[in-house]
Amino acid sequence: MTRDTDTVNGGIAFWYARDGLPVPREPLPGDAAADVCVVGGGYTGLWTAYYLKKAAPFLNIVVLEAKFCGYGASGRNGGWLYNGIAGRDRYARLHGHDAAVRLQRAMNTTVDEVIRVAADEGIDADIHRGGVLEVARTPAQAARLKAFHEQELTYGEHDRVLRGARETAERLRVAGAVSSTWTPHGARLHPAKLVKGLADTVEALGVTIHESTPVTEIRPRGAVTPYGTVRAPYILRCTEGFTAGIKGSRRDWLPMNSSMIATEPLSDALWETIGWEGRETLGDMAHAYIYAQRTADGRIALGGRGVPYRYGSRTDHDGGTQPTTVRALREMLVRLFPTTAGVRIDHAWSGVLGVPRDWCATVTLDRTTGLGWAGGYVGSGVATAHLAGRTLCDLVQQDSGQAGATELTALPWVNHRVRRWEPEPLRWLGVRAMYTAYRGADRREAASHSPRTDRVATLADRISGRH
Ligand SMILES: Cc1cc2nc3c(=O)[nH]c(=O)nc-3n(C[C@H](O)[C@H](O)[C@H](O)COP(=O)(O)OP(=O)(O)OC[C@H]3O[C@@H](n4cnc5c(N)ncnc54)[C@H](O)[C@@H]3O)c2cc1C
Repeated sequence: MTRDTDTVNGGIAFWYARDGLPVPREPLPGDAAADVCVVGGGYTGLWTAYYLKKAAPFLNIVVLEAKFCGYGASGRNGGWLYNGIAGRDRYARLHGHDAAVRLQRAMNTTVDEVIRVAADEGIDADIHRGGVLEVARTPAQAARLKAFHEQELTYGEHDRVLRGARETAERLRVAGAVSSTWTPHGARLHPAKLVKGLADTVEALGVTIHESTPVTEIRPRGAVTPYGTVRAPYILRCTEGFTAGIKGSRRDWLPMNSSMIATEPLSDALWETIGWEGRETLGDMAHAYIYAQRTADGRIALGGRGVPYRYGSRTDHDGGTQPTTVRALREMLVRLFPTTAGVRIDHAWSGVLGVPRDWCATVTLDRTTGLGWAGGYVGSGVATAHLAGRTLCDLVQQDSGQAGATELTALPWVNHRVRRWEPEPLRWLGVRAMYTAYRGADRREAASHSPRTDRVATLADRISGRH
């Protein structure tokens, strides 16, 4: 018997349920001038402002945010701070294996750096460094997991551990788990606490943040808003999944939807049946994969794809989620942890992440126009946004003659260009077909007991440009 009639749907995200939504800062009062203008107050924009201000305290930096800092994915995500970066394998093919190893190392260090800065700046974001545990629940998933594990070793992750069914269950009892891979390069966190703490820190350093200020157009040396234009030699677009809403950028990055549920706090007796004392972030190897965390207040927060994409690159309304998606996520929760069958779902919400046509994250500064951008993290953005922010800082410093090239500006994802998405209805039909294919493939793999990856999923990966 479940009690889901009281589930809060939307309200941005569960992460705001306890403390409420922040009161927005003052909007832009009129035309203004700055040295750097950052568009978007999520992790990318705020980390960029943080590192720029630290490197050059004299800079006049203005952040323009359409709603409030943390309104986007940075205030809604699953709280996996981990070392995965979208596109690494393609960057290995384009720039060589060593370049991709450097990128991977930078990501490993990034996890440490976020934890260090949060501690130094007094940002309490419920960070627990338990690593990342990914489980396989079918023979095909187990084969993929082993291949994934072995591939990660080739990128220098020698501290990664492969576990069988019994050892996995000693840590976390996921029903039907046959194997798992664990890396120490990950931590669980409270997304909204991190983004709020970061905005406050950046502001205290002397960065100006204007909220309730949507940018309607970005041009070289100007960010246009209904209240005035900010003129600056550098305009940095940090709007990830919302980029399609900016004039001229509709087909740059596809706004992919991800949805989550959070349970009520589980009783100690229930936690006994599950384990999870290490608070690892948890994922699986399904094609339509899930991600989850054990929250600081003893709930399970679990996410998955739901309705993957809205026609015309539209985004959700403040996190509102289709009832069918909420039901599907609950069913998945119970499939993974059968003892949660009677547990109440307190909250359901959605958000958007940015997907480039080649599924590769990127950070770019166009030196002729002074326009920069970072994103396309494809759901691995909590740590990647930090590396992007540090890199955008180095690129601006280098371009303005304040500093030279750095290790970060030489990473293979810097200044990577990609073609745009197809126009509608092709975009919508393509993403829909891809996720229909993935769900079918997951079902067939579960039923077949074969270690082979379903051919339809492989084909969908190839056609979509994902692998
Ligand atoms: C449900 C969900 C779960 C996720 N889980 C994880 C996870 O566990 N681990 C992980 O690594 N990644 C995860 N991600 C991805 C990760 O959260 C994002 O990649 C990351 O937060 C992106 O940060 P950002 O600052 O680039 O973008 P956002 O956080 O989306 O910030 C963009 C900001 O720009 C503002 N904006 C938009 N348009 C304009 C405009 N025109 N003018 C001014 N401001 C504008 C928005 O209001 C928003 O605040 C998840 C994403 C979602 C949606």
